[in-house]
Amino acid sequence: MLPPDNHVHTEWSWDARAGSMARSCARAIAAGLAAIAFTEHFDITRWVVAPKLQATLRVHAHLVDKDDHLRPPPLDVGGYLECIERCREQYPQLRILTGVELGEPHWFDTPVQRVLAVGEFDRVLGSLHSIRVGGDAWIMDEAFADYGPDPLHPHDTVRAYLHEALRMVESPAAFQVLAHIDYPARHWPHRAGPFPLAALEDEHRAVLRALAGSGRALEVNTRLPLAPEVLRWWVEEGGEAVSFGSDAHAPAAVAHGFAAAAAMAEAHGFRRGRHPHDFWVRRG
Ligand SMILES: [Zn+2]
Ligand SMILES: [Zn+2]
Repeated sequence: MLPPDNHVHTEWSWDARAGSMARSCARAIAAGLAAIAFTEHFDITRWVVAPKLQATLRVHAHLVDKDDHLRPPPLDVGGYLECIERCREQYPQLRILTGVELGEPHWFDTPVQRVLAVGEFDRVLGSLHSIRVGGDAWIMDEAFADYGPDPLHPHDTVRAYLHEALRMVESPAAFQVLAHIDYPARHWPHRAGPFPLAALEDEHRAVLRALAGSGRALEVNTRLPLAPEVLRWWVEEGGEAVSFGSDAHAPAAVAHGFAAAAAMAEAHGFRRGRHPHDFWVRRG
């Protein structure tokens, strides 16, 4: 059986215009999932939006303040939870978990504690989407662009990301899962050659070691196939649990790539937990 999809966005995420919780449930059932978690964005970080990019930013242009920073809209927790209840009634055969994806939770102690107190979320993802360069936050989607922060070499941009991920993991922020450690790879500029995974092994291992020490799980995010080395390092550094997430922003992407991801996790010794909605864990 496929693992639960623990990272799905719907119409309740500000950047998921094609999202639909109800249709994502239908898609999960069709794909053979026993459980799904809806982990909507909770973002506080205001990213730089370079003037060159603003011309192409049709969808989100209204979110850019006069100082060229994007202000993510708040999460409507009440509306989201009502939608969860409607879906649970409509799809009783599917285990539907609540969730939230916290952007840079170690930078926003009070707002994070506030939203977690309101929501009682089953799945809490900790995500690093941006790094600070020269006092500004740059989202990784733009950090490699020619209008991005200067003058970081692309390798140093990934290194900065992993250093910040380490700070996030070392913080007491209340997340259970480190999401998409390979987020920089999504945006890596191929003009710079292959992604420098081997050259940054030590930086990856430092994040994974701290994550294992904190008792949290590592996400196998299937937006890109995760490099098997990362899962091997996770095991070697003491990691015990993995969570699978498609990071779908539209129903069709739910459980995308899950058969291959599950097979890779099994090859590294991970097995489904006691309940179908549990994280996968290593068995000796
Ligand atoms: Zn994310
Ligand atoms: Zn996400």
